[in-house]
Parts: sequence; C-alpha cells; structure tokens
Amino acid sequence: MPALMTEQVTSVHHWNDTLFSFRTTRDQSFRFTNGHFTMIGLPSESRPIMRAYSFASANYETELEFYSIKVPDGPLTSKLQLLKVGDEILVSRKSTGTLVADNMMPGRTLYMISTGTGIAPFLSLIKDPDIYDRFEKVVLTHGVRHISELAYADYIENVLPENELIGDMVKHQLIYYPTVTREAYRNNGRITDLFRTGKLFTDLSLPFPSLSDDRFMVCGSPSMLKEFCGIIDRKGFWESRSGRAGHYVIERAFIEASK
Ligand SMILES: Cc1cc2nc3c(=O)[nH]c(=O)nc-3n(C[C@H](O)[C@H](O)[C@H](O)COP(=O)(O)OP(=O)(O)OC[C@H]3O[C@@H](n4cnc5c(N)ncnc54)[C@H](O)[C@@H]3O)c2cc1C
Repeated sequence: MPALMTEQVTSVHHWNDTLFSFRTTRDQSFRFTNGHFTMIGLPSESRPIMRAYSFASANYETELEFYSIKVPDGPLTSKLQLLKVGDEILVSRKSTGTLVADNMMPGRTLYMISTGTGIAPFLSLIKDPDIYDRFEKVVLTHGVRHISELAYADYIENVLPENELIGDMVKHQLIYYPTVTREAYRNNGRITDLFRTGKLFTDLSLPFPSLSDDRFMVCGSPSMLKEFCGIIDRKGFWESRSGRAGHYVIERAFIEASK
C-alpha cells in the first residue's frame, strides 16, 4: 500500500484573504484518530511539498477536511490556496498527534484552547461522541485577531447543534467561546489574559479550574502555548507524556519562522 494517497478536492471555501478550508475524497481504507494530524501536499517536479495538517473532519465522515492558513510566499500554501474542485492532493496514510482523548485523565470539564488554525483538530474532536461521554462539559475557546478569522463560528453555533448524531450532546455539553483581540466583539482579549484574570470563567459561569475536575487540550501559536502552559504548570497541572495520561496535552499549530 503506498504511503501517500492521492485524493480529489470536492469543495473549497475561502473565509478571507488569509484562511481557507477544503474537503477531499477519502480512501475508504484510511483510518485516523480524532485530534490527529497528517502530512498533506502537492506534487512538484522534484519531490512533493508536504506539510503537517490537522484533520478538521471527524474520523467517521466520508470526506476529509482541512483548514488552512495562506502564508504569502509559503512553499505549500501559496499553491494550495489556488486549489479548485477536481484537483488532486497528496495525503499521507500515517497520522499521529497528542491531542487525543486517551491522553487525558478523567475529569468533568475539558477546555480546548486554540488560536488561529489551531482550532482545526478541535473541529474533529467536537464531532466525536466519545468526548461527550468522557466529559460533562467541553469548552472550545478560539482566539483570533479579527472577526473574519472566526471561521466555523456559524457552523459550531448553528449547524452542529442540529446534527443528527451528536446535536443533542453539542446543545447540552459544548460551550463555544470565541475571542477577538483587534476589533470590538462580544468577547475581547487574549485567551491567556482571560484565563489568568478569571474573566473566562466569570463569563461562562464556571468555577476556576481545579486539578481534580479540569483538563486542557491546547493548540495554536508557539508563543500562546508557552504562555498558557506556564500558567497551568504553576497551578500544578501536568502534561501527558510518553503515553501517560495527564491534565493537559499540547500540539504546535505551526513552527515559528525564526526557529
Ligand atoms: C502538528 C502541526 C499541525 C499543523 N496543522 C495545520 C493546520 O491544520 N492548518 C494550517 O494551516 N497549518 C497547519 N500547520 C502548519 C503547516 O504545516 C504549514 O506550516 C503551513 O501550511 C504553511 O506551509 P507553507 O509551506 O506555505 O509555509 P511554511 O514554510 O511551512 O511556513 C512559513 C511560516 O508561516 C507561518 N505559519 C505556518 N503555518 C501557520 C499557521 N497555521 N498559522 C499561522 N502562521 C503559520 C510560520 O511563521 C512559518 O514559519 C501545522 C503544523 C504542525 C507542526
């Protein structure tokens, strides 16, 4: 079986000048775990240009979905953003990642903390019935600079609650908390500040996190990850490591240019 599958693009949606999503066909034999990422890419003259991408689709869906940044002059995304229905894309059969339910110790509330395209793996996880069996409440936070970057807001708030399979769980257990830093919006500020000051919990009428009840999955910019993990480390939460379940797990949504 070849390591790379060739899939066809079935739809493309541009959210704004910097973000887009697309769906592809899915090899029926391909399996992955919700929260995982894989390598996707495009053929080129020498060798394919491949980059890590989280699945935004759930593992029971018939198509694959990806949510992507458009990096000006980015080797892959400068081309990827030109994708059209019917184009071919390469998808690695090997998926992996730390943002999986089995890495979490049992708890009552699961916080999914994301910035930018870091929301992608959580789009997969909030469609997974298993996550609602494990946790009483699932809080999905999404921090962005501009309102136009709140991709999937309408889907999460209006479409998912009507989903035949998981709509009832979503209505009763999922709390969505989008926040914007550079424009007036119903929630404003960096997620790290909202967490540190406790405003997030006041807004949601939830208690301040405790070691016994609360768990975190974190995905976004390296700087947000570092700051957020510093805050929860100081409160005694510890990260899942080497297959040992923990209070929290992290995944970098990208590697910063300077590193
Ligand atoms: C585990 C993992 C999962 C990832 N999942 C996704 C995903 O679901 N969606 C996605 O768009 N990207 C994701 N990325 C980033 C992705 O692999 C590529 O870096 C991105 O598609 C840009 O590719 P490029 O070749 O155009 O530019 P690159 O040369 O890869 O990146 C150029 C620079 O752009 C910036 N950058 C790259 N990706 C992002 C981003 N997502 N948000 C903000 N700035 C960025 C960084 O400063 C980077 O150094 C993931 C990365 C990792 C490590």
